Amino acid sequence: MHLLRLVIIAVIIWFAIRIVRNALTAKSARQVDDYRGKMVTCSVCGVYLPEDDAKAIGEGKYQCDRH
Ligand SMILES: [Zn+2]
Repeated sequence: MHLLRLVIIAVIIWFAIRIVRNALTAKSARQVDDYRGKMVTCSVCGVYLPEDDAKAIGEGKYQCDRH
């Protein structure tokens, strides 16, 4: 019965690792989704924002909505 107990513990550990790995993968996939698209920096306050939300004020320069 000692071997059976070891197998059960191994299966439980395997499941735990799988659940943690799935959670980490889902989290990083969501982060990639959040940062999809080009990010630019406001030339006045230095905040990062998506290029779509920024106003282009020159070649490679952007401003956020606050200015
Ligand atoms: Zn700004």
